[in-house]
Amino acid sequence: MDIEEFRKRGYETVDRICKYYQELENYEVLSKVEPGYLKKVLPKEVPEEPEPWEKIQSDIETKIIPGITHWQSPNFFAFYPANSSFPSILGDMYSDMFNVIGFNWASSPACTELESIVLDWMGKLIGLDPNFHSDGRGGGVIQGTASEATLVTLLAARYRMLEEYKAKGLDGEELRTISTRLIAYGSDQTHPCLNKATMIANTRFRALPTDNNFSLCGETVKQEIEKDIANGLIPFFIVGTIGTTNSAAIDKITDIVDAIKGTNIWLHIDAAYAGSALICSEYKYLLEGINQANSFDLNMHKGLLTNFDCSCLWIKERKYLINALSTASPDFLKNSASKDGLGLDFKDWQIPFGRRFRALKIWFVIRTYGAKGLREHIRKRHNLAKQFYNKILQYPDLFIIPLPSNFGLVNFYIKSSNSSKNSNKLTEMVYNRLNENGKVYLTQTKMRGQNMIRFAPGSPLTIERHINQICELLLNITQEVIAISL
Ligand code: PLP
Repeated sequence: MDIEEFRKRGYETVDRICKYYQELENYEVLSKVEPGYLKKVLPKEVPEEPEPWEKIQSDIETKIIPGITHWQSPNFFAFYPANSSFPSILGDMYSDMFNVIGFNWASSPACTELESIVLDWMGKLIGLDPNFHSDGRGGGVIQGTASEATLVTLLAARYRMLEEYKAKGLDGEELRTISTRLIAYGSDQTHPCLNKATMIANTRFRALPTDNNFSLCGETVKQEIEKDIANGLIPFFIVGTIGTTNSAAIDKITDIVDAIKGTNIWLHIDAAYAGSALICSEYKYLLEGINQANSFDLNMHKGLLTNFDCSCLWIKERKYLINALSTASPDFLKNSASKDGLGLDFKDWQIPFGRRFRALKIWFVIRTYGAKGLREHIRKRHNLAKQFYNKILQYPDLFIIPLPSNFGLVNFYIKSSNSSKNSNKLTEMVYNRLNENGKVYLTQTKMRGQNMIRFAPGSPLTIERHINQICELLLNITQEVIAISL
């Protein structure tokens, strides 16, 4: 493909993207293909001869689109939203234009410096403590996902704890023994990425029980830590979640801070989904706890109109992260900026060496919408969820909403006049019929034995009409299911 053909195909592709967003509502949200569908329609070997673009492009229409679940659809209410936006797509186009691999400052100064600047901007917009900013001992970095943020902060916490033992004169085999006694904590609602991080890091892990609102409480933390210390374990890391995946529950962060006071336990706040809401004044009350933590992470790719991937991690003392993740620099990486400590080398803040120029899309999004536009986006989403909540609240004979609707998520289940087992069955039937219908996509969960349907609006294209449509569909399906179950 030469530059003139790229120009032609590039314009066509942008037209196709626009058409996709204009017609998105007409697509069935959930892909209906069977596993292995693509293998059946694609050749078994690499094509020997070059293929014309028309043929490649037409395969997008006929072979790829049928296997797409349309996350940007206004009728996508599943999981948590992963918003895209046009400025963000343009940011990724520029990133692809440069295609720099910004592992260290010298490899592309703009890539590193813009990242540090936009994360300081975001940190200030949220109201993070100045210790999280890059001009002190902390700073922000873009990770691919919240899972990576959890893993790297756990590694930083382990480094910090082992340093404490080194300072006491332990080394070699003694330190290895200490490592086997390290234990990390989350709750029974913490995202499984924490368990995965402990598996990778080969440390122990305990999921602590939550209260009736599915929040982790300080008293539970205190008791478990005391028990573990008495048994010879070394607590070193705890994750507090603001907006759990199941139910958007909020852990009692200030109480957890009190519970770990005087220990060397690292508190990481996972606000992958809900953290975006902190740009709005009504959520600033959460900062009291967050600002006492060692690290904080949110996914701009969930709630802030920034295309995947874009997980923003802030850390108060970057030295622990850098020391945990840096190696002796090979000769091919040596440069004067790194040597003099003047440039940031983000390869030492993450697992891989290579990294994309993701700050561009944040920069474009922040500037295009402004703080005001981003706040409007969050509030619009939360209001749509409230509308749904209020609508189904009008049918107490059909629906039970057991939890408050936090951060734009509504969990509900179908009421049964018989046993709770029947309610689980009814909820599952309604859930299956809703998704089989093809017009909408929701996800389910199970909490303390109760099946629930999760409703999380998120697409910027979703408006009140879509809420009315899903409510009507839900009502019809629920009445049908109840009628056939009688
Ligand atoms: N933490 C929470 C609270 C989440 O809701 C999720 C995903 O939904 C994750 C972590 C994992 O996010 P990621 O896919 O960015 O690793």
